[in-house]
Amino acid sequence: MTVKAIYKQLLTFLFIMLLPFSVLLAQEDEEGMKPEDTEWYEPVPPEVKPAEDHYLKPPSDAIVLFGGEDLSKWESSEGGEAPWKVENGVVTIRPGSGDIKTRKSFGSFQLYLEWRPPMNDELTGQDKGNSGVFLQNRYELQVLDAYQNPTYVNGMAGSIYKQTAPLVNPSKKPGQWESYNISYTAPEFSEDGSVTSPARVTVVWNGVVVQNNTKIKGDTPYVGLPEYKPHGQAPIRLQDHNSKVSYRNIWIREIDRKNNR
Ligand code: MG
Repeated sequence: MTVKAIYKQLLTFLFIMLLPFSVLLAQEDEEGMKPEDTEWYEPVPPEVKPAEDHYLKPPSDAIVLFGGEDLSKWESSEGGEAPWKVENGVVTIRPGSGDIKTRKSFGSFQLYLEWRPPMNDELTGQDKGNSGVFLQNRYELQVLDAYQNPTYVNGMAGSIYKQTAPLVNPSKKPGQWESYNISYTAPEFSEDGSVTSPARVTVVWNGVVVQNNTKIKGDTPYVGLPEYKPHGQAPIRLQDHNSKVSYRNIWIREIDRKNNR
């Protein structure tokens, strides 16, 4: 064996030995936080059986974002046409194709949508029917199969991801349509960029309140603490998390806060 060959083998050996550490390092943020630092498992939200007919049709002043025909109100979050599959009045994620977002931007709103995790029993936890609704493109309301699928409770369906677990768990069996009726108040920022009024959200999941005027603490990263960065109106974004989650009947009503005074 030549010196060069030995050297090459040594390098390969070192590379393989150090690979797991590099993966661990990559999971930490600048402050050295790990994903598990912001995951908790208790208390587990009690199960609630929702009523059968909890679906809502759009009222007259709603903007229908997806009525079953096409994704003309949406685009790829990287720009260009929305790459998800539309069939039989339903839009389904093409895993790996990326997130989609509305072409229009929004401030405060009422957003209603129906979602369905795929029937896929082999997967568990965060891999089972993961998607998400990013309010103003930043604050993730988690979408996940929550039927007998334990995971960290502030990452289950109905949670503000890695912040606030749902009050209860009204999930349905896999393959059934679930609904979110979301009332969202946009945050307000001062001139210097600090937050003067945090975002607030109320979420009704399958007809059951799971977030009650919850204060959103900032963005919703996988690793690290939530942070606010100033922003104006922004799109609604739906997450591609490598799972064939479907959506239908998506509509939104803009809420003009001036009307509350
Ligand atoms: Mg998600």
